[in-house]
Amino acid sequence: MASGQLSRAEALACSGCRHACHVMLYCDTKSQLFGRLPIRHIILMQMRFDGLLGFPGGFVKPSEETLEAGLSRELLEELGVALPISVEDHADSCYAPASSHSSSSPSSRLITHFYVKKMEEEQIKEVERAAASIATDHGQEVLGMVRVPLYTTKGGGGLAAFLSHSFIGNARSQLADSLLRLNLVAPEELHKALTRSLKIHTHTSEDLQVAFALTEAKRKRF
Ligand code: AMP
Ligand code: MN
Repeated sequence: MASGQLSRAEALACSGCRHACHVMLYCDTKSQLFGRLPIRHIILMQMRFDGLLGFPGGFVKPSEETLEAGLSRELLEELGVALPISVEDHADSCYAPASSHSSSSPSSRLITHFYVKKMEEEQIKEVERAAASIATDHGQEVLGMVRVPLYTTKGGGGLAAFLSHSFIGNARSQLADSLLRLNLVAPEELHKALTRSLKIHTHTSEDLQVAFALTEAKRKRF
């Protein structure tokens, strides 16, 4: 098992740990962007309240509920749909990076459990509709659901640009790992996209410097 990774049983044996469960919901699709670029799969992520991209889910209390029941409860709040999650949907569990630890309980380690669930395209669309209309967390903890673009446009946009955004905890690694494990993107394609993401990242930091300099100048004027 890779470093930091735990089996579900090992993770549950840690009584002093906090636990969070998240899920990647996805489906196959025959639809095409601009009528020519295959979209191939719809993968749901969300823009979180903290401005970071992540998967739906949240904290669970193993002393009061199973990991899967806790995840379903979180999904009802965030997506507005009671989605059953089973042990078979579990993909991996690992210690969250130190930056994910809550400042209210910095001493207890956080274990994140990741699940993957394949659905039908119509079910995914129903989740998107419910998330924007009846989910209690909409506009609060969840600012909106987003689909992950898996294609690369002529100008190099798509997956590379998406991966260059900021993600919560290890959500970006969970996404990259799932893309490979489920054969949703070829390893060579993902490698190219990540190489491009790193370049975009450099450009983004230059862009941020420009915006920063602009506000600095304005700030001094008032
Ligand atoms: P949430 O309630 O969704 O914010 O998640 C509970 C905790 O899990 C928070 O402390 C987050 O920092 C952390 N977290 C959320 N999403 C992920 C993720 N995909 N990978 C690792 N940690 C996460
Ligand atoms: Mn959440």
